[in-house]
Amino acid sequence: MTLDDILEEVKKADKIVILTHEAPDGDAVGSSLAMKLALKELGKQADVIITEYSRLFKFLPGAEEIKQESDIKEYDLAISMDCADLKRLDGGEEYFETAKRKIVIDHHGSNKMFGDLNFVNPASPACCEVLAGMFEYFGININKEIGTCLVTGIITDTGGFRYSGVTSETFEFTAELLRKGVKVSDIYKRVLDTKTIANFELNKLVVNRMEILEEGRVTFTYITAEDLEKVNAEPGDHEGLVEIGRDIEGVEVSIFIREEKEINGYKVSLRSNDYVNVSDVCLLFGGGGHIHAAGCVMLEDMETVKKKLLNELKKVLK
Ligand code: 5GP
Ligand code: MN
Repeated sequence: MTLDDILEEVKKADKIVILTHEAPDGDAVGSSLAMKLALKELGKQADVIITEYSRLFKFLPGAEEIKQESDIKEYDLAISMDCADLKRLDGGEEYFETAKRKIVIDHHGSNKMFGDLNFVNPASPACCEVLAGMFEYFGININKEIGTCLVTGIITDTGGFRYSGVTSETFEFTAELLRKGVKVSDIYKRVLDTKTIANFELNKLVVNRMEILEEGRVTFTYITAEDLEKVNAEPGDHEGLVEIGRDIEGVEVSIFIREEKEINGYKVSLRSNDYVNVSDVCLLFGGGGHIHAAGCVMLEDMETVKKKLLNELKKVLK
């Protein structure tokens, strides 16, 4: 498979749909919209379907055209962005499965390669950076709008250019966008340095409940469905909570679990600082992600979830 094969598929298709993972973050929304805008440059119209996402991303160019569902039942081409697993596609599984051709573009090491064509680069710190290289290869002019979407994904997935996946290319590409007039500091402020009130309230709960375990190497904290209701949480309001534990000196793994009433279980988020591969740990429970950031779903009560996670972590902690 080459990038030319992907371009070939795009050129052949009339009805195109772009999908991404549930609870979409900046990289998911940013890469989906960047793809839509880039296809426009190639003379193609595409639907982006996302059922719900944080209002912090509503400023992105093209966001007003995001659909929650579509009347089209069989697309010529479906493109999955920033998603490692078909079962994580946000309300989009059916559109993906019924599409005549399927392309997966991603940067998760745990990607299940569920497309006909899979373009996955685990070395890339964001799906948006994978796209940047792809658009350059296709000769697509990365204009201010596309650049705004791409830099949003890069900023959110790298924690503001802080994580180890960041390379000189990340900075060079961002510098190029700055020269084109993309307001990088404005985007940074909007997507990383702005907290909703509900997120702030959840922060307080999570900090108060945080336990430091395993001789200071692990933190555990949680929020319940009731907490989310109480603070009127909206989609995305839990973002960043798992990072609080990870930033404590000496901590290797931070565990944050969030109760989901609909599934009668917990959405698990893990972060690590150095040597623990949390993606491997989450894979044991049917999830996945990246070496230092991963997640899974566990359909058990809180104590059992906590015990099972700690049991696995004990095996890999030094
Ligand atoms: P978060 O903890 O922010 O929800 O997710 C961290 C990383 O792990 C993200 O890259 C996300 O895509 C991935 N991830 C989170 N939950 C799951 C899951 O249930 N399955 C898989 N395969 N990946 C997940
Ligand atoms: Mn991503």
